[in-house]
Amino acid sequence: MSETILEIRGVSKHFGGIYANQDISLDIPKGAIIGLIGPNGSGKSTLFGSITGYHPIDEGSIKYEGQELKRLRTAEIARLGLIRTFQQTHVYDEMDCVRNMLISRPMRGGDIRTLLHEPSAEDRDRAEDLLEFVGLASKRHLLAGSLSFGQQKLLEFAMALMNEPDLLLLDEPTAGINPTLINGLIDRLRQANERFGVTLFVIEHNMRVMMNLAQEIHVLAGGKLIASGKPKDIQNDPRVIEAYLGGS
Ligand code: ADP
Ligand code: MG
Repeated sequence: MSETILEIRGVSKHFGGIYANQDISLDIPKGAIIGLIGPNGSGKSTLFGSITGYHPIDEGSIKYEGQELKRLRTAEIARLGLIRTFQQTHVYDEMDCVRNMLISRPMRGGDIRTLLHEPSAEDRDRAEDLLEFVGLASKRHLLAGSLSFGQQKLLEFAMALMNEPDLLLLDEPTAGINPTLINGLIDRLRQANERFGVTLFVIEHNMRVMMNLAQEIHVLAGGKLIASGKPKDIQNDPRVIEAYLGGS
């Protein structure tokens, strides 16, 4: 029934002798929250890099809204509404939160020259609204470098939303965050999905979080897709349990 926003077919990527992604095929339905799990080194971040043009893939096809992405650059892909966040936060320590928000905007607007102009009133309003949305309104004039790691993750999430993504890839959004902030972040993810209609593809180690958040989970091990299914089935899947126990 549901439309597919991202179609991944036979994607392989190696780094030297390491096959980080091997023949991966999966679909992301539009409007869904989909999870990606797997032991360390199983190729999850590589798959995000493959999707968003951070490195060329060796084989396969990645279609976003029907359009082949594999020859496009990251900025071009971002402009189409496909944005990723990173395992390590990418905020600008020496700028305040509002400035971080405004500087992330050109990703979608598409042009480095935008940086040289005064941001539009619309962008300023959007920045303030989104900082409020992630609970950072009171911190908006603090330097990003003075925020806690968890708050930086929230800021990074808000920066990603600044680009008005249709599909947002989140690489371990809750890693290193204290439990109180985790619950807040999970609520925000769900709200972004419901309120702004953003499709989410989320790498997450915390199984409790995944169980509550994702409608479907894909599991990587050794660069291969070994299982896909509903959270409760994945949790009890012998292949998944073995991958985690047998892994590093
Ligand atoms: P995960 O995100 O699941 O922990 P990664 O996708 O980061 O795994 O890594 C998968 C494998 O590819 C690992 O063996 C890792 O060392 C390797 N790898 C990832 N990125 C690079 C790179 N830029 N250069 C060389 N090897 C890499
Ligand atoms: Mg990773």
